[in-house]
Amino acid sequence: MKKLPRGTKRIRLDCLAFLNIGQRDATMSDFHPSNYSRTKIVATVGPACREPHMLSALIRAGVDVFRINTAHGSREEHEATLRHVRAAGEELGRPVGVLVDLAGPKIRLGQLIEDPYECRLDEEVHFVRGDQLKTADEFTCSYAQLVDELSEGDSVMLADGTVRLQVASTSGDRATCKVVGPGILRSRQGVNLPGVALSVPAMTPADLDNAVWAAENGADFISLSFVRTPVEVRQLKELIRSHGSRALIIAKIEKSEAMDQLDEIVMAAGGIMVARGDLGVEIDLAETPVAQKRIVQTCQRLAKPVIVATQMLDSMQTASRPTRAEVSDIANAILDGADACMLSGETAIGKYPREAVEVMHRVMLSTERTLSRTTGDNGPIAALSGVHSITAATVYGATEIASRVDAKLIVIASNGGATARVKAKFRSAVPVVGVSDKPATLRRMSLFWGILPVENAPVSDGPKLREFIDQWGRAVGLLSKGDRVVYVTGTEVVARAHNVVVVQEVE
Ligand code: PGA
Ligand code: MN
Repeated sequence: MKKLPRGTKRIRLDCLAFLNIGQRDATMSDFHPSNYSRTKIVATVGPACREPHMLSALIRAGVDVFRINTAHGSREEHEATLRHVRAAGEELGRPVGVLVDLAGPKIRLGQLIEDPYECRLDEEVHFVRGDQLKTADEFTCSYAQLVDELSEGDSVMLADGTVRLQVASTSGDRATCKVVGPGILRSRQGVNLPGVALSVPAMTPADLDNAVWAAENGADFISLSFVRTPVEVRQLKELIRSHGSRALIIAKIEKSEAMDQLDEIVMAAGGIMVARGDLGVEIDLAETPVAQKRIVQTCQRLAKPVIVATQMLDSMQTASRPTRAEVSDIANAILDGADACMLSGETAIGKYPREAVEVMHRVMLSTERTLSRTTGDNGPIAALSGVHSITAATVYGATEIASRVDAKLIVIASNGGATARVKAKFRSAVPVVGVSDKPATLRRMSLFWGILPVENAPVSDGPKLREFIDQWGRAVGLLSKGDRVVYVTGTEVVARAHNVVVVQEVE
């Protein structure tokens, strides 16, 4: 399990079996909320971590959600990863989420004649139609209409902005570009066209296929890259709903068009990713920190979970310790109000996947210790985001009550997860557990800030739930006689009742 604070008692309790908290050698104190960061960790799966023992090690180190990136790997690999993540979560008694990431209309270079190819300053290179290349300075790409849609003066960014081109002229079947930022290119590197409105569809045939696979195989979250409009988000949502999936759609904000319709996209989506990798090429790199803050604030206002992604611990792909700037980046994302931070290459292909998760988790715990209450008048506008205003007010009230009665724990009972989603936006120092009789809802909570999902709670029977929580709280070393617990029972849990807040003292 996660590293225990010094002095924590290691006790072995037989009620583990009763509570069905899996793992044989776990001690109940491992489940103390202080061992979990409130901010959630999303880790990208890849060759460096996809073996079952590594997935388990990463969960113990603090991972809440695994990202399967469909831009890499085969269907067989994705299927195996999904199976192994599910098995590891079950073995450890942890509701771990799975996020299937769709690559979207990412444009890539074709095969280069000379690979690698060095683009020199002021040199002319050409995007040509078809795939008949004659000279090394001619390129093709995966988007056939590119030549038609470029015009003189447009910028073309290659390989995450390593090489910058400016379109000098276009003719029937080629666009001639001048190299304004020199560098080295390789086949199949990414092509970004900042500010060019492309007619490319939001999803490729491969995305459609992967979306249906994710929907039919119980993905908890499905993310779409290069979202431009709320319509694209709604279309994906309809598609997966028609395949029986309740997965939350995560819209990746990485285009300037998305920044122009941010509120509408956040309202349409189940959650948001600040995809700083591509965003930092699609808009001016210097504007990305402020864009991050704006996206996180919008998600706070509209009560949607938000993931800050890319390069958070980039140097740890090759080094066992991070830079000071990276550590600050994680802390600042938390202070901005992020629900989760993501690791990409660090866990997928890096040399130190477990160390990266451990560092991230430690930074989260230290940063969170400084948080007392960060919300106030800036509460979510629940009515706009599919949450009943009574739910939002109740959760806000319960958070207030918990601090006034000095509660040791808040329990959120939720059917679909909306009550927990709103609670994540009213931060406070009191630990929160989420309970539900739906395993999928517990896994959904894996992305919500500050909600520790606990399995097997009898949610629809008040007295039994109390008894369960009292026992759980005592077993993990959090509750003792006389301690106060605030219960919030969600709208959908008790039929025809709106949300209920109950304060109980442990007997
Ligand atoms: P990617 O998305 O890693 O799938 O490109 C994240 C980003 O662009 O930051
Ligand atoms: Mn991206």
